[in-house]
Amino acid sequence: MPRTTDSKKAKKATPNSKTKKTATKTKKTATKTKKKAPVSKTKKKAVVKKAEDEYVPPEFKKLAKREMMDLAKRVVGEASVLVSEYLYKKKDISEFEISKKLKIEVNDARSILYKLFNYNLVTYIRRKDRVKGWYISYWTLNPKGFVELKAKRLKQRLKNMKDRLIREEKNPNGFFLCKNACMRVDFDAATEYGYRCPECGELLNPQDNSKTIQNLKERIKELEMLQA
Ligand SMILES: [Zn+2]
Repeated sequence: MPRTTDSKKAKKATPNSKTKKTATKTKKTATKTKKKAPVSKTKKKAVVKKAEDEYVPPEFKKLAKREMMDLAKRVVGEASVLVSEYLYKKKDISEFEISKKLKIEVNDARSILYKLFNYNLVTYIRRKDRVKGWYISYWTLNPKGFVELKAKRLKQRLKNMKDRLIREEKNPNGFFLCKNACMRVDFDAATEYGYRCPECGELLNPQDNSKTIQNLKERIKELEMLQA
């Protein structure tokens, strides 16, 4: 839209008294453009566009876009990233539009959308198409669902780590490590292997796991801080 650029330039130029005349002229043009715009081609689209631009629920601030896409990729798969990116900060987008814009089959788009829906990462509404008579689903990304999923995954990671810490603390020297670091096994497995690494044949030595324990404790602390 070159006209917009012109009017911006005009505004900048206004303080300069020399260009007053020109500025007034440009202003007139700008007003004309303003009046013209809603009447012309954008009238129908304007409603949708406004809704799209305004759809920024507060949860969007809690999670970076990159993090959201990463979550989608982890739980639904690579193909869902494209769809999630397209829906980002848009509202009520039909599966046909998604299919068309991303150049994928409608059924593939739907399949991805329902998978995202299973994780509460999208919501949808159904509207009957007046012309065709069938129902069309309109989809919206659900940032709240992303925030909840992130918290859930963090909680799970924390639980896994705490379980592991308990196991490590119960077995102060109970783990055996190959000199070449092929594997780390517990006492039972080490006995079974005759204290020889089945990969390289080196001795399996009891490992002082105090460092592992310390490491786990630090990581747990970090995760707990993220959770708070
Ligand atoms: Zn080995």
